[in-house]
Amino acid sequence: MTRVAVIDYELCKPSKCNKECIAFCPVNLTGGTAIEIDNARKKPVIYEETCIGCGICVKKCPFKAISIVNLPDELEKMLVHRYGKNGFKLYGLPIPREGKILGVIGKNGAGKSTALRILAGELRPNLGRVEDKPPEWDEVVRQFRGTELQNYFRMLAEGKIRAAHKIQYVDMVPRRVRGKLSTLLEKADERGIWKELVKELNLSHLLDRDIRQLSGGELQRFLVAAVLSKDANLYLFDEPSSYLDIRERIRVARVIRRYVPSGSYVVVVEHDIAMLDYLSDHVVVMYGEPGVYGIASKPYGVRTGINHFLKGYLPAENMRIRSEPIKYTISFTQQQEVQQTRRYIGWSRLVVRLDGFTLEAEPGELHEGEVLGVVGPNGIGKTTFVRTLAGELEPAEGNIDKPEGQLRISYKPQYVNPENLGGDATVEQLLREANPSTLSPGSWLNVEIVRRLRVDRLLDRRIAELSGGELQKVAVAVALAREADIYLLDEPSAYLDVEERLSVAKAIRRLTEARGAAAIIVEHDIAVQDYIASRILVFTGTPGSHGKASKPLPLPEGMNLFLRELGITIRKDPETGRPRINKEDSFLDRMQKRLGKYYYI
Ligand code: ADP
Ligand code: ADP
Ligand code: SF4
Repeated sequence: MTRVAVIDYELCKPSKCNKECIAFCPVNLTGGTAIEIDNARKKPVIYEETCIGCGICVKKCPFKAISIVNLPDELEKMLVHRYGKNGFKLYGLPIPREGKILGVIGKNGAGKSTALRILAGELRPNLGRVEDKPPEWDEVVRQFRGTELQNYFRMLAEGKIRAAHKIQYVDMVPRRVRGKLSTLLEKADERGIWKELVKELNLSHLLDRDIRQLSGGELQRFLVAAVLSKDANLYLFDEPSSYLDIRERIRVARVIRRYVPSGSYVVVVEHDIAMLDYLSDHVVVMYGEPGVYGIASKPYGVRTGINHFLKGYLPAENMRIRSEPIKYTISFTQQQEVQQTRRYIGWSRLVVRLDGFTLEAEPGELHEGEVLGVVGPNGIGKTTFVRTLAGELEPAEGNIDKPEGQLRISYKPQYVNPENLGGDATVEQLLREANPSTLSPGSWLNVEIVRRLRVDRLLDRRIAELSGGELQKVAVAVALAREADIYLLDEPSAYLDVEERLSVAKAIRRLTEARGAAAIIVEHDIAVQDYIASRILVFTGTPGSHGKASKPLPLPEGMNLFLRELGITIRKDPETGRPRINKEDSFLDRMQKRLGKYYYI
């Protein structure tokens, strides 16, 4: 076995502890040196050759900054990159195939973005040689002799890969790029297709806008267009679904399929499993321990690859990657239970008029402890509706029957950035302000929110230093920690991986039930919506001008209504219960449309 010792230097703070890791190490205590302070870095360094892997430092470190794992020796032959001594190790790479779309799925922190940077030639693999000079390309190519990696690295070495890369965090782009959309797209365009892409991606009305004025969903579509207009032979899309509603997700997936040049290599990293499934030709699972090491699996067929990932076992590798399988099931019992609880809020037909926007809602009611899912595009009146229910906005027509006074709403907006969350504060400060009980070890909120979402690892970190996924989890935790009557969470799954999405869904469900409150969840990942909602509210109309809200409908009925509008049919995977989008005009698509069963048959 090979010892891998990884220190998370963001968590490690030797000035705030007693350097217990060094003081208690048995190798150090018996005259050897397995761990010591590195003079240049002023932080500890662990020598993997002398460390015996006892794990004492792992337990002693008050900041949980150290991880020690033992990995099979033969894996070392596949070591592609290491981020410095005691840094993250990446084994293997998802290798794209000519003319095919490769989907990549896996936990956050498993090395997906690192793999994309290597595939694109943005990061030269060092084969784990962190002390001396990094290896030349020849050596990298030789190291992987006889494998698919060898061919790929040879192409990179010979400068034959021209990559176009859509990065994960679209919100970062306006900080680096300035200008009008039409100017930027025209400048980026190397294939003479930007005008076509503008039409296909519904960007025409935005051409005169400055990039800084775009919403997240608009930025996402703009970047997809810019990347596709590059004359490349490798196209990389890191999470193309964030901030898009369901219709836009499908649109983007179809545009990517249609516009990548034939014979090019395409890689898509995506946590929305319905979109990944719809878009990919085959799938690689990235597994390992987040932040410590990541391994790329062999390529699998799309259906089987996603199912193996969900079931937690990779047969070709003979590797269990999770102890429990993930199952998506519509919880009919949950729906029935909810309908037996007390009515919480009721409303008659409502009309709400704002300056330039009108919302109409059918009569309906919400029950205590209910999680109501919401589907529909952005700017269609979802927030307006909830504010009206709570008493913050007065309807022009209709009335609301609710407990006395104005109800308290706890709101997680769609876009979370350090500025609107509390930039300079630490995660701990934010949680304390929202509800001090979250910080009492073992308290209900501490277990159900802080620990379940693994926010406990982040308590010391400043908001401004968090990654997009960490920021999202903190924003959800803060919103759920507050005492409120209605919880409104807009796209809580953006930037989260499949497991984190389900942890968030569970936390929402538990809290809402236990408090007897109601939660309203805007969610564009169909699999997550399916998992979390007891009933759903469907919004239709014209964004920015006129919205219509259905009454709360049972999930199959609501989804049926919504999908009929979109002209999309969905079946259920028999093994995992996950929703799968039917290929347009396929046998099932035609049959389900004929039967009027857009959602499962
Ligand atoms: P993913 O895209 O799957 O979330 P990443 O490739 O972004 O994973 O990162 C994997 C791990 O590599 C991270 O948890 C982090 O610890 C480490 N890492 C990423 N970038 C760097 C870097 N520039 N320097 C040091 N470590 C890094
Ligand atoms: P969603 O939550 O579905 O994204 P919102 O309810 O926030 O949509 O907004 C619906 C529309 O109403 C948008 O066009 C928005 O600009 C507009 N709007 C929201 N609040 C107000 C307000 N207080 N005054 C005028 N227009 C508003
Ligand atoms: Fe020392 Fe044990 Fe930590 Fe290795 S795992 S550095 S031997 S305390």
